[in-house]
Amino acid sequence: MTNKLKYFIGNWKMFGDISDFKIIQSINKFSNKSRNLIQKKRIVLCIPNTLIYNFKKKLRSKSISIGAQNCHYNQTNGPFTGSVNARMLKKLGAEYIILGHSENRAEGESSKLIKKKIISALDQNLNIIFCIGETSKEKRNKKTFFVIKKQIKSSLNKKFNTNKIIVAYEPIWSIGTNKILQVKELKVVISFIKKELKKLFKAKSPVKVLYGGSVNNNNISLFSRISEIDGFLIGGASQSSKKFIDIVKNYYK
Ligand code: PEP
Repeated sequence: MTNKLKYFIGNWKMFGDISDFKIIQSINKFSNKSRNLIQKKRIVLCIPNTLIYNFKKKLRSKSISIGAQNCHYNQTNGPFTGSVNARMLKKLGAEYIILGHSENRAEGESSKLIKKKIISALDQNLNIIFCIGETSKEKRNKKTFFVIKKQIKSSLNKKFNTNKIIVAYEPIWSIGTNKILQVKELKVVISFIKKELKKLFKAKSPVKVLYGGSVNNNNISLFSRISEIDGFLIGGASQSSKKFIDIVKNYYK
């Protein structure tokens, strides 16, 4: 069993209502119970904004953290109908925030906009889960390295606090499709991302790099063989406490 800290971050997307607290409660219970068994794990659930305050308040003896899934770039209040900024999310109890998710990039979020959001979230001392990844066409055209390098360079700045940034490599063709990379291939991409981050941030503490895309309780054992991966961003499977808990259990098997 590895001794290195590993992240298991759930992304609920647009799912859940107040009654789904039971999912978080079961995961929290598991996390508390397995504290000694699985020492170095960090569990984070990124849930809809509508649930953050309520769930955070109800969670007792928490060993899991709550996160948000996006925010507006503006740091202060302003005329942005329907939007919520990082400061508001922090006040609700969010400790983490997903930024640059491909589903939001597909809605028109540019790298420049994502950078502004990262800056505003860092200003609130939130932990950033910054998503990058290539489309299937880019992969077919052997553009993976080019694309992820560009995404890193255009949204991250060497002055950013590396202790507050986690990069999640999520090949877009793998999200919700049950298609995954071969172990050998994934190892190479994760190492490439780590090398690029090291070049950018030089002597600062290394940035954690997660994998996301169709992670489930069966394929997690394949990923656990890749020591370079610092954890996982889990979409669909995080909406079920059983599936999520089984992923964590099977990782450490
Ligand atoms: C995601 O949306 O971040 C994700 C990884 O989804 P899934 O696990 O469902 O592929």
